[in-house]
Amino acid sequence: MRAHRPALGRPRASGLTSPRRGAQEAAMDFEPAYTAEQEEFRSEVRAWLGQHVPDVPHLERDTPENYQRFRQLHRELGARGWLWPTAPVEYGGGGLSVDHMIVVAEELDRYDLPLPPIYDSGGRLGGASVLIWGTEEQKARMMPRIIKGEVVTWQLLTGPEAGSDLAGTTTDAVRDGDEYVINGEKLYIGGSHDVDYLWTIVRTDRDGERHKNLSWFMIPADLPGITIKPMELLGDGAEGVGHSWKNTIYFEDVRVSADDLVGGENNGWQVATTHLELEHGSGGRIGRNRWFEEALQLSLTMKREGKPLIEHDDVRSRMVDLFVRTEVNRLFELRNFWMNRTGTKMTYEGPQSSYFRKIGGLEISQAIMDMVGPYALTNDPEFDPEPWSAGVLHAARYPGAPPRRHHRYPEGDHGAPYRHRARPGGASGGDTPVAPPRRHPGIANVEDDAMDLSLNELQQMLKHSVDDFLARSATRDAILEAETSAAGYSPEMWKIAAEIGWLGMVTPEQYGGTGGSLTDAAVVFEGLGRGPVPGPFFSSGVLSPLIITEAGNEEQRQRYLPSLASGQTVCALAMTEPEWGWGADSVQMQAKPSADGGYVVSGVKVFAFDALAADHLIVPARADGQLVLLMVDTSNVGVEVRRMTGFLTSECVVRLTDVKVPAGDVLEGGQLALERAFLRATPILCAQMVGGAQAVYEMSVEYSRRRRQFSQPIGRFQHVQNHIVQLVNYVDGARWTTFEALWKLDEARPNAEISVHLAKVCASEGYVQATNYAHEVHAGIGVMREYGLTQYTRASRSLYHALGDPQWHRRRLGKLLPQTADEAIPA
Ligand SMILES: Cc1cc2nc3c(=O)[nH]c(=O)nc-3n(C[C@H](O)[C@H](O)[C@H](O)COP(=O)(O)OP(=O)(O)OC[C@H]3O[C@@H](n4cnc5c(N)ncnc54)[C@H](O)[C@@H]3O)c2cc1C
Repeated sequence: MRAHRPALGRPRASGLTSPRRGAQEAAMDFEPAYTAEQEEFRSEVRAWLGQHVPDVPHLERDTPENYQRFRQLHRELGARGWLWPTAPVEYGGGGLSVDHMIVVAEELDRYDLPLPPIYDSGGRLGGASVLIWGTEEQKARMMPRIIKGEVVTWQLLTGPEAGSDLAGTTTDAVRDGDEYVINGEKLYIGGSHDVDYLWTIVRTDRDGERHKNLSWFMIPADLPGITIKPMELLGDGAEGVGHSWKNTIYFEDVRVSADDLVGGENNGWQVATTHLELEHGSGGRIGRNRWFEEALQLSLTMKREGKPLIEHDDVRSRMVDLFVRTEVNRLFELRNFWMNRTGTKMTYEGPQSSYFRKIGGLEISQAIMDMVGPYALTNDPEFDPEPWSAGVLHAARYPGAPPRRHHRYPEGDHGAPYRHRARPGGASGGDTPVAPPRRHPGIANVEDDAMDLSLNELQQMLKHSVDDFLARSATRDAILEAETSAAGYSPEMWKIAAEIGWLGMVTPEQYGGTGGSLTDAAVVFEGLGRGPVPGPFFSSGVLSPLIITEAGNEEQRQRYLPSLASGQTVCALAMTEPEWGWGADSVQMQAKPSADGGYVVSGVKVFAFDALAADHLIVPARADGQLVLLMVDTSNVGVEVRRMTGFLTSECVVRLTDVKVPAGDVLEGGQLALERAFLRATPILCAQMVGGAQAVYEMSVEYSRRRRQFSQPIGRFQHVQNHIVQLVNYVDGARWTTFEALWKLDEARPNAEISVHLAKVCASEGYVQATNYAHEVHAGIGVMREYGLTQYTRASRSLYHALGDPQWHRRRLGKLLPQTADEAIPA
């Protein structure tokens, strides 16, 4: 049995029916007080749960066995009247007071279990509609089985055409004697395990007036003609970010008894309104601030750079953000719970807390990514101290919210930096950029030396060639297939990239590369990010050659660079250690000098991108306090590499046990060489992220034009326009900071380092935010893997931390920007 974690100084639930003070003293009391009888009831519940809560690791681990054990607990609670404690006894409930219900919920909460302990939409939502709209016969037949937990029910509302516009359903039911014959399809339904009843809204009068042509049924799930097909969605069990999957449910000539029609024919909209009200947040909830408690707990036990997380200033500041956000959320829910249970009239409160929770989920997940770094994304049993990843994409999995803000919708195509600007003399430029005379290898200057942010001729050619590659070889289907293959990428795509020369773009010509500028390489990598093309392209085609060029001696450059450029050798960096952090200071792995001038090295590296694909790893380690860079052949004895699991792309664990690295495989440069390489590599990675964010933007605009709800394209709703405006702001912020950093490096301008850190902050945060807003625009379809948005969502989270997360780059910026008034004011 899991140990109970103590509550951490939280204010507790509301005093609903038993205030401690006299009514004349104070109207508000946020803490419940219990009578002696209720405390006795608590002892009874606690003792019973102690005997009956199954001894399993965590409900998040969604195995069939876990599910069945919790379903059994669900039934046993139902038998005692504790599953829906306040429901009337005649319908199978406990007939207890709200305070008793709070006691049961609090006691289950000690085991991190909700009430009810498994997903069942019947008791709270569908059952409420039956109670209000059903006949006595229907209530007596349907309710006790639901309230006692004997059956599990799913809600079937969304269809391909009917999402936000639920009344637009195209699932039809036609009366035939004592039955209705149903045909149609419902999406995103239910969970991973068994179901007994389906409640749904269907069209019973195709030509009838809107909202008056619908009917509501409670249908046995095993009727002939019903097919349940699992959907592949973002965050299902395989990625470790969720704890159930969803289904498509097909109805083919399903004959349903007319006795199962609730509320009468063509009255379905009224019946649905009852549960929609409840679903949209008006029920409220009470309970502790689990998010904050668990974050605090983790900050005490987990370390970064040798110190518990809580001792880092930036983590504490994110904890405060988290606290503020989650406490407001808790109080909204608490207020709604109180209003609901005391019959206080509600107007906006339900949707308000629902919206606040969903949007807050994104902020919370970002705060957690900043606090616990890449650990937020993994469910790898070796490294996952808590199923953190469950919350990270919470809001992306439940998108959609009411309209609220006012912004302008960008017209037409969104301008990439290569779009031709109006030229002096009135030439408009149009869609075909005219290359200015080339003066520098980076972004070109026009004749009069005025600023020009368009691409030069070579860069335009590179852009066309990578566009062509995406259209012909790296299509969406090919990318999906490559991603799910054992290797995680396509050898054919790799071969093409090598042949075109994309793996040698930053490598000088004398070592087999094309010796282009960083901006040239960025143009190609932006294209690969648009795919997003999976594979070790950046690790082996940019990062490793830059490190070897900076840190290797002549012999080492000759040995490695040509074969990296030709794609024959694949190389990756394995730097991050279990106490993560970024930068040379966080490297603690010890390398022991050996007699031949080389080293023997042991230890673990984590979140090493592309290590499984690599035949060589660059391993930074420490010898006599100094950073040494070791080239480790992955076929050597003592090298073990495996993929990490979770919401990741290609991150691996590398375990080294007494691995011998000969003197010739020690790169001569140390920390400074590594940092020079990182400085040059980082904006190319940012360009890759910009490419992903740009693709996500284009998908969203296109979808907002195509998808219709309420008889119009969703792009007409200001709410959706607002998402797209936010999205474009993030894409542009990432794009222009990235390309300025590249330009400064290519042109050897001062303050390039500041620009690189700025670019990584904007690219990391911008890509994540772009995908968040894209999910808002797409709602349900966005989480279907085959649609293609989820690949960007995953890449955005994964790359967020690569080469340092935004918090790390912010700290560096803090050191580089003026520290004092004297420094800030020019002499
Ligand atoms: C993880 C998950 C679980 C789900 N579980 C269930 C389930 O158990 N049962 C079930 O029936 N359904 C379920 N759904 C479906 C969910 O209810 C729908 O996704 C939701 O109703 C939105 O519909 P849609 O996806 O078709 O988006 P759309 O309605 O197409 O919306 C797309 C975008 O347009 C916006 N929009 C639409 N209309 C308006 C408007 N009038 N004004 C302003 N903006 C508007 C939306 O806010 C959104 O941004 C689930 C979905 C997900 C993602």
